[in-house]
Amino acid sequence: MKSNPVPGRLASAAAALLALSLLLGFPVSDAGAEDDGNEFLVVCSTTQVADFARQVAGDRAMVHCVLTPGADPHLYEPRPGDARIVARADLVLQNGLHLEGKNWMETLAHDAGKPVVTCADGIEPLRLDAEGKRVDDPHAWFDPANAVIYVRNVTEALARYDPERADEYRARADLYIAQLRALHLWTIERFHAIPPERRILVTSHDAFNYFCRTYDFTAAAPVGWSTGAEVGGGMSPERRRTVVESIKEFDVPAIFVETTVNPKLIREIAREAGVEIGGELYSDSMGPVGSAGETYIGMMRENTLTIAEALGTGE
Ligand SMILES: [Zn+2]
Repeated sequence: MKSNPVPGRLASAAAALLALSLLLGFPVSDAGAEDDGNEFLVVCSTTQVADFARQVAGDRAMVHCVLTPGADPHLYEPRPGDARIVARADLVLQNGLHLEGKNWMETLAHDAGKPVVTCADGIEPLRLDAEGKRVDDPHAWFDPANAVIYVRNVTEALARYDPERADEYRARADLYIAQLRALHLWTIERFHAIPPERRILVTSHDAFNYFCRTYDFTAAAPVGWSTGAEVGGGMSPERRRTVVESIKEFDVPAIFVETTVNPKLIREIAREAGVEIGGELYSDSMGPVGSAGETYIGMMRENTLTIAEALGTGE
């Protein structure tokens, strides 16, 4: 067999350049973009799942997200337009673990006679205490190791639907997963200087347990908060007192509002506890297009910078 070393070297140089461009976020022209006549439609419930689908599908699929940036998946009520687009979907993807309140994505898919791929399948869920009941914590994407499982599930769903391009989807996924691993190491590095006594993360609702476990913070929801009950429906004066007292007791340096939850309650609690607002964190949704948090990696990066700045070194 003859081999020509020059094209081989060129090909590996091109691959290295592509990898570098993607890691640095430069636009890269897509050789497959010219034959977009056979795009298929992937409908996703949450912005994070939609981002994973876009990363893996490239230009091969149209990815539609039911939730808009900033929308709350726990409380979402589907609209007639959602049913129409799910009816046209070739693939339906959801987070699962009951993030989609009252299983609204499963209901939409069921009504349209479509199967649903649950992207959190295979994740070992944390357990939450909600109103005396033990439930699975749905916010699993906040651990990048879990995000890898989401991406693998998305990739296999695309490969099953479009087996001819399975290798292409897996290749994109491999590169993206390398970026997720780089994000994880970068995050550890950014938090390195925060001393243990300042590693307390107080937010509006229980979204950050996976994040806190991964990066060695205490999720200082001194009570279990969830948008469905306490925040959406109002918090009892007694519960609120407990929260304020806990913030004082642990000498929490700053607390955080979230993009998907009304900030009013956290602002009032900050005032009562005499603690600063450390900034706004992306929680159940990424940011709008054009914002720094418009992708999963962007939202994780911005959250990390916000937390590191607010909790700092204490000096
Ligand atoms: Zn949530």
